[in-house]
Amino acid sequence: PPSRSTFNSGGGGGRTGRVPVGIGRKRLRIVVTGGAGFVGSHLVDKLIGRGDEVIVIDNFFTGRKENLVHLFSNPRFELIRHDVVEPILLEVDQIYHLACPASPVHYKYNPVKTIKTNVMGTLNMLGLAKRVGARFLLTSTSEVYGDPLEHPQKETYWGNVNPIGERSCYDEGKRTAETLAMDYHRGAGVEVRIARIFNTYGPRMCLDDGRVVSNFVAQTIRKHPMTVYGDGKQTRSFQYVSDLVEGLVALMENDHVGPFNLGNPGEFTMLELAEVVKEVIDPSATIEFKPNTADDPHKRKPDISKAKEQLNWEPKISLREGLPRMVSDFRNRILNEDEGKGL
Ligand code: NAD
Ligand code: UDP
Ligand code: UDP
Repeated sequence: PPSRSTFNSGGGGGRTGRVPVGIGRKRLRIVVTGGAGFVGSHLVDKLIGRGDEVIVIDNFFTGRKENLVHLFSNPRFELIRHDVVEPILLEVDQIYHLACPASPVHYKYNPVKTIKTNVMGTLNMLGLAKRVGARFLLTSTSEVYGDPLEHPQKETYWGNVNPIGERSCYDEGKRTAETLAMDYHRGAGVEVRIARIFNTYGPRMCLDDGRVVSNFVAQTIRKHPMTVYGDGKQTRSFQYVSDLVEGLVALMENDHVGPFNLGNPGEFTMLELAEVVKEVIDPSATIEFKPNTADDPHKRKPDISKAKEQLNWEPKISLREGLPRMVSDFRNRILNEDEGKGL
């Protein structure tokens, strides 16, 4: 592939000719699609914190201005209400492409829109990357492995995905997004990076997004029972959001295309997760069983040897350390909600 402009030593070519932010590195102009969401807003904090310019593109489907309001007066920050399904013209050095609902409740709400976001949205952002010579990072997902027949999952595993199920708009959408990224890389020389993210939790998750960690934490704070779906023996591996942000930045700044699994290999059944929530938030918490959803993967755990070796990255925060860090944010928002209802 043709080599891109190298005036930004931080990686990601581009045409913006930024001014220096410190010794040895120029200020970058970076787009974060989906930057008003849970992961995106933490990533934006990190990029602004290190001195770069950030443009967030978000249609606010699941994102919230509140996640970014503390940056509104910062001259290096810009927020554009825009749907990535439509084309957009910008001049940038790097693109972190996160725009896509991530929780099953949200991505199943309008499955056709989810596919359009994954396919047309990713195509537009790759077209933009190609035009301006920007480096492009795709946030793919562990769901590309489907209900995995290999455990733990390595990046070389091709997955076991139902193409016609209720989760397919997301799983197959992300698989197509990976394909598009690789085709722009091979065919047009776009510098791409692919992250396969495993379940991530932390402050600013939507209270009502139906994911297991946000559900259990919100239910416990509200003194409701934790809803365990199925027999609760299915497993997931939970990563704290700051570990993920470190991994995404390490991947963007590195020379390897990926894909890379970014997740915490600590594996828990949903019943074990409920025990940890009980232990760290409220010992009097209870559980209730509910029927499980269709096509729910039985187990999931990343093999992260590749990211350890090639990116020198591994998560640092265990579930017991991470969970307490999201409690005050959840408590405050639940309190505000209750006050809003006049409770
Ligand atoms: P989120 O729902 O909090 O954030 C997604 C953001 O994208 C929201 O701000 C939403 O408004 C925006 N968005 C959605 N569709 C859009 C569109 N068409 N145009 C513009 N903006 C749009 O989810 P998150 O947990 O922050 O996830 C971020 C990314 O990471 C997603 O791509 C998701 O697939 C991926 N991911 C997350 C996890 C996780 O556990 N959080 C796991 C695997 C992959
Ligand atoms: N695109 C965009 N911004 C740009 C460049 C391209 O949104 O700065 C969109 C463009 O509208 C197209 C997609 O990205 O829908 C793919 O662009 P590409 O140039 O690769 O393909 P083509 O336009 O030739 O189909
Ligand atoms: N789950 C649960 N109770 C809930 C929400 C989810 O037991 O209130 C289970 C769900 O069936 C799945 C696991 O938790 O087995 C993880 O679900 P989540 O929606 O968080 O993420 P994903 O399925 O995408 O990994």
